[in-house]
Amino acid sequence: MSHYMAEYIWIDGSIPTAKMRSKTKIMKEGEELPLWGFDGSSTNQAPGDASDCVLKPVYVIDDPVRGGANKLVLCEVFNTDMTPHASNTRAQCREIAERYQGHESWFGIEQEYTFFDGAKPLGWPDNGFPAPQGGYYCGVGADEVFGRPVVEAHMEACLAAGLQIAGINAEVMPAQWEFQIGPVGAPDIGDQIWVARWLLYRIAEDWNISATLTPKPVKGDWNGAGMHTNFSTKQMREDGGYDAIVAACEALGKNADLHVKNYGANIEERLTGDHETQSFDTFSYGVSDRGASIRIPWQVEVDKKGYLEDRRPNANGDPYVIAMLMIDTVCSAASS
Ligand code: ADP
Ligand code: MN
Ligand code: MN
Ligand code: MN
Repeated sequence: MSHYMAEYIWIDGSIPTAKMRSKTKIMKEGEELPLWGFDGSSTNQAPGDASDCVLKPVYVIDDPVRGGANKLVLCEVFNTDMTPHASNTRAQCREIAERYQGHESWFGIEQEYTFFDGAKPLGWPDNGFPAPQGGYYCGVGADEVFGRPVVEAHMEACLAAGLQIAGINAEVMPAQWEFQIGPVGAPDIGDQIWVARWLLYRIAEDWNISATLTPKPVKGDWNGAGMHTNFSTKQMREDGGYDAIVAACEALGKNADLHVKNYGANIEERLTGDHETQSFDTFSYGVSDRGASIRIPWQVEVDKKGYLEDRRPNANGDPYVIAMLMIDTVCSAASS
């Protein structure tokens, strides 16, 4: 009898930022992936005297770390009465996505992150700081970039797992990197980002490096880590879609507070108005403007169709929540 390993992965109830958890189930070949349980009192998802929570497989892919027939199994968390757990933002996201299915929403997410070696960013001196920012973005060379072997291994793993990774680059702050996934619909974009995050943590573990999504890892004149969210609907992608893009920006402006409040903890530390951000309490949009809340890429203005880039989400934001808010705000305005 042949066996394989299924790594059940879920999102916990940590506040204000959820963490990822996983555990392994040995499966017989050909056997269907069952519901499974875990101790919710250890993940901030249940009290000790009624601790059981339910894992339901929703997104299954090849496991590029273990290889072979092994699988990664992303799950939704349910209460024992099979209602979605309060921490289960995917359940809310799929409901909204289904309601506005006809708009054919696409997302391309740029996930930024920072490598840490113990208490300091990877490659930073033990005392003091590296040379000021300027030469690191898309840099090359051992004095400019730190952690490339991990980044390469992560990219290969995403491809082997069948994720729609679109690219990677070194970021403005040394030890900071980015990967992009998309364009894909919802809630799939959330599935792929969360699994790609898990793979990043898991792969960096083997190098004794920790990858973090902290939005402002170093105070002062150092870039924060964001999660730019590129978004389009079918209408925006078609000829003459520019009017729909402007209408989407206007609708996002009317709901600016709601979005910013749900785009990741400590967002005001990152959205300062400096370091290629707009201030958290101000809304603006503009063509090619990296100091705006929403940027319309220059090519989109030329083509008069395409997509918009919401630059506000934090690296530690929940892609299910961001996708759900984006669809709700933009598509409800377009439908009315
Ligand atoms: P930036 O210039 O902001 O660094 P990136 O190249 O890092 O941009 O990311 C752009 C992202 O936009 C990619 O993930 C890409 O898949 C996505 N994208 C491209 N076209 C669309 C579209 N029509 N709708 C949604 N996302 C898109
Ligand atoms: Mn980018
Ligand atoms: Mn970036
Ligand atoms: Mn961007």
